[in-house]
Amino acid sequence: MTENRAFQQAVEILLEARGAVAFTGAGVSAESGIPTFRGEGGIWKEVPPEEFGTPWGIAHLIRTAPERLFKMLRRIGEILLSAEPNPAHKTLGSWEEKGILKGVVTQNVDDLHELGGTKNIYKLHGDLFRWRCLTCGAIRRFQRKDLQELLERITRSFRHLFDLLELLPHCEGCGALMRPDVVLFGEPLPPQEVAGALHLLEQCDVLLVIGTSGVVEPAAGMARMVHNRGGILIEVNLEPGALTPYSQVHLFGEAGEILPALGEEAMKTLSCAQGVS
Ligand code: NAD
Ligand code: ZN
Repeated sequence: MTENRAFQQAVEILLEARGAVAFTGAGVSAESGIPTFRGEGGIWKEVPPEEFGTPWGIAHLIRTAPERLFKMLRRIGEILLSAEPNPAHKTLGSWEEKGILKGVVTQNVDDLHELGGTKNIYKLHGDLFRWRCLTCGAIRRFQRKDLQELLERITRSFRHLFDLLELLPHCEGCGALMRPDVVLFGEPLPPQEVAGALHLLEQCDVLLVIGTSGVVEPAAGMARMVHNRGGILIEVNLEPGALTPYSQVHLFGEAGEILPALGEEAMKTLSCAQGVS
């Protein structure tokens, strides 16, 4: 299928959808300056996932090299806390408002879908802005400015592991240390996000798979589930990934260019149809 034909087909499928949903990965935020895990500029090329992406790796770093861990977290924090939504996030937000999209299921932990206008969102791998008490499980939400201030405070005062333990947020209920409620490798997905995502995907007949390599499970299985039920998958990606064989339409390129172009074409088609009738 030529690129042009695939593009037209995607527009038609979207306009006929009863319940379109977007399933996104790190690639949707790449044009906002947040590096993806895999592919060009991927973070895991610099930072081994078994060290920085697992609970046991982080526990080991806290004991043996807290300053290395802190340096990495500061770098990730600075990038995530200053990133702005790009045209892909904004297009998805506007599609939800217009009723073209029912919502977003994302693997990302950033806040760019929300800032781009998406309201109905399920975050399978947690949320950097939601923190959880390590002892009683109480949840606290933080604003961007709270986390920016926290990062500045830690940067100013960090000399030793004890400083870090003291400066990090503590639970208002039991006083124990809190951590960002994000899913590290080997940890279970947040049940309330999974339940919401499954409910949304069960009613979905068209799934836009955007900026994901499709290799992280069980998240990728949710996209395959839509395919297995007879739903149509439209893939928007820089390169083929593990969900490519399950997708009927492939649009290879940058999500920040493809999604606004799809939106414009859909609006044109709609206004032509209204003009004709
Ligand atoms: P991934 O890094 O495995 O794959 C990224 C995919 O996006 C690749 O297929 C790449 O070709 C594509 N891509 C890159 N730039 C793109 C663009 N401009 N337009 C369209 N596609 C583009 O990401 P993944 O599949 O989401 O899996 C990685 C895991 O890492 C996820 O579970 C996620 O939780 C986590 N992660 C999150 C963030 C974030 O919150 N922004 C960032 C990095 C990693
Ligand atoms: Zn607590």
